[in-house]
Amino acid sequence: MPELRQNIATKEWVIIASERAKRPNAYIEPKPLALTEGRNAYEVGCPFCPGNEELDLEVERHPSNGAWRTRIVRNKYPALATEGVLTRSFDGVQRSITGIGYHEVIVEHPHHNTTLALMEVEDIYVVFDTFQRRGWEVCKDQRVEQIVYFKNHGERAGASLPHTHSQLVGLPIVPSDIRRRIEEARRFFDDTGCCVYCTMLSEELERGERLIAVNDHFAAFNLYAASSPFHSWIVPRQHRSSFRNAQTEELHALAEIVRDLLRRLYFGLNDPAYNLIVRSSPVKEPESGYFHWYVTLVPRLSRSAGFELGSGVWINPSLPEACAEFLRTVEI
Ligand SMILES: [Zn+2]
Ligand SMILES: [Zn+2]
Repeated sequence: MPELRQNIATKEWVIIASERAKRPNAYIEPKPLALTEGRNAYEVGCPFCPGNEELDLEVERHPSNGAWRTRIVRNKYPALATEGVLTRSFDGVQRSITGIGYHEVIVEHPHHNTTLALMEVEDIYVVFDTFQRRGWEVCKDQRVEQIVYFKNHGERAGASLPHTHSQLVGLPIVPSDIRRRIEEARRFFDDTGCCVYCTMLSEELERGERLIAVNDHFAAFNLYAASSPFHSWIVPRQHRSSFRNAQTEELHALAEIVRDLLRRLYFGLNDPAYNLIVRSSPVKEPESGYFHWYVTLVPRLSRSAGFELGSGVWINPSLPEACAEFLRTVEI
């Protein structure tokens, strides 16, 4: 019998389509898709490879002298413009704001043939540290209300360049998706006096059936109401609303668990496409008892269609508990 499940933090429903559910190993990508490690370490003409830096608009590099480990560059086709005046216009049903903000790319490593799953923990830590430092810089701009950090890995996830990178978008608004999460979290806190994310975390740790990896600072688990196969959250065990306030040792632990999880996907499913998103509170909101930052990982193994668009309800043709068990057994 299929089952409808609700994510208590977001209130989103999904259909776990057990009738048509595939076993987790049915999602293993065919090998010829060319694994990341099969590429050359350097690619002529790749704007993110060392030596080709003049091909893009650099904002900063880390470290600033000598060989760089990460670079921040402006997106070549930015969704938002940094220069200009923020103006709002309300004209009947037409409401608009000038497209002011930030759209930057974080080049995660100098090598063309690597990705987070293949990088050392220390290198991944540098990536998250770069996210955080740039986040603090961008939020000094009073026009910015929300920062979204994300990674598109693989064509199916929207990556247009193969060289490992992530992106940062500083928006002049708080997106309704984030506002809704905050409102749900506030309501749960009002009803129970607890953070809904802390509640989910402690229950997942206790149940264990959907856990994939745990360390001193984080737990990674497949969501009970996963909207797609292997859809996971990585939740910090220390309650904090903003990713920008995560401590150095937490970023190290984050690098460790993200690497662990991504290696399970890389080796277990043959380097599938995925999106990784850091969800954090709006930049002008103070730390609160009800909102909790976290990382979402969405492998792109199933497609959405009209039903999802028409209902906001996702059909997940896999069983989250089986997906977690599969990932736990992958040799990394
Ligand atoms: Zn490259
Ligand atoms: Zn919490």
